[in-house]
Amino acid sequence: MFEVKLVVQVKLLPTPEQAAALEATLRVVNDAATWVSQLAHDRRVFRNYDLRRHVYGQVKDRYGLAAQAAQHVIKKVADAYATLHAHVRNGNLSRPGSVRRERVLARPIVFRPGAAQPFDDRCLSWQLNARTVSIWTTGGRMKGVAFTASPDQLTLLAAHRKGESDLVYRDGRWFLIATCDLPDVPVRAPDGFVGVDLGIANIATTATATATGTATGTATGTGTGTGDGVRHSGKTLNAVRHRHRELRRRLQAKATKSAKRLLKRRRRKEARFAADINHTIARRIVTEAARTGRGIALEDLQGIRDRVRLRKPQRVTLHSWSFHQLGHFLAYKAARAGVALVWVDPAYTSQACSACGHVAKNNRPDQETFACTSCGFAEHADVNAARNIAARGETGWAVSHAA
Ligand SMILES: [Zn+2]
Repeated sequence: MFEVKLVVQVKLLPTPEQAAALEATLRVVNDAATWVSQLAHDRRVFRNYDLRRHVYGQVKDRYGLAAQAAQHVIKKVADAYATLHAHVRNGNLSRPGSVRRERVLARPIVFRPGAAQPFDDRCLSWQLNARTVSIWTTGGRMKGVAFTASPDQLTLLAAHRKGESDLVYRDGRWFLIATCDLPDVPVRAPDGFVGVDLGIANIATTATATATGTATGTATGTGTGTGDGVRHSGKTLNAVRHRHRELRRRLQAKATKSAKRLLKRRRRKEARFAADINHTIARRIVTEAARTGRGIALEDLQGIRDRVRLRKPQRVTLHSWSFHQLGHFLAYKAARAGVALVWVDPAYTSQACSACGHVAKNNRPDQETFACTSCGFAEHADVNAARNIAARGETGWAVSHAA
């Protein structure tokens, strides 16, 4: 089924002195990694175990690394070569003998001064209540490095954090990336399904597959309602995207360094905003499904991508990425809550009548309206689509769980 592995990223808030120590540490371990990499390349020794035998003592002394840090450096190099060699084997580096491939293989891997470094529990400890970490640096153990985390993240870290965390320096900011292994929650047998239709005007519309001829969907457009036919409007998100796009165009025209920096910051802000909205929508949908004992039916992601591709090409990347993210949020929140989730075939969900099944293009007189040319059933187009998705979810579940 769905493996629930969550990556929790917290932002560090180091003082200037602490930041300097972190920076020095990353620089040293990455210098050390580049040095080990050169050796591995020259001597054709790539496996972690063999490499450790060759260079452990040297790298420890030469760079003043603690035992754990030295081992992590060596393992990082071994992992990097394992990945590179896997790419070569799988033909991801073009044909054998090609210039690009030869060039890549002829040189040792080089590590950037800010490249991520793993820290295990001996090199990094978390004080969750105080929201600080204590971390090994080349200048000694450093205590009391503050971080920010949401209550949700703190709960996850306390209960399920496992193994190593990566220290990362990105765009002038420090992060710790921790992995959480969530225990499997048994999936409850659903009592009916709620279908989720993803779109642009409405990011997500939910409805159940009530097989009545009368429309009960009360679309509010705010997403605060419960029950049937709830639309989570994309108005705010689309407005923000539009504003950002305009700003981006003006900044791109400038092409100065500060304009580039501003652009980067804008893009991050927009992505954060979209992710917040997706989290909120996913949480509402899963909470409501759990409360009513229903399962969730979602259009297959590949299908979403294909459908969106037919629309304005410029919008494709952002929206398909956003759909993908919402689908991912829904999947793991459902898994955590023990809510059944079924992916369904998205073909004709928008053209088929959810009351009688009649499929026709002109069942859709416009973007918002569904009006069946056969039985006369009328409904908001997204609600009708969500009904079809819910019905397919029920069928899909029944087929895959037939005794
Ligand atoms: Zn009909």
